[in-house]
Amino acid sequence: MKFSTRRVFLKYMAILGLGVWSTTPLYAKAAKDKLKYQDTPKDGKKCVDCVHFLAATNECKVVDGSISPDGWCMIYLEAPKK
Ligand code: SF4
Repeated sequence: MKFSTRRVFLKYMAILGLGVWSTTPLYAKAAKDKLKYQDTPKDGKKCVDCVHFLAATNECKVVDGSISPDGWCMIYLEAPKK
């Protein structure tokens, strides 16, 4: 690719950088085993009550893959009561 001026080159690099930045996830989800995920509650704590739980899809904002509403992992954080 030939750039006629430095300004064109810089504009091209800015657009390229924006494209890469906007399509790259800011974080990756963690594997279940890394966070000691289990499909059963622990001490009455379960995913359905956690702030990271996504009820519509039975997914977690942090843990990768499908999870059980009755599951638990070591970063459980109880959601505020409504
Ligand atoms: S307990 Fe762990 S796996 Fe379950 S919703 Fe919370 S962060 Fe996700």
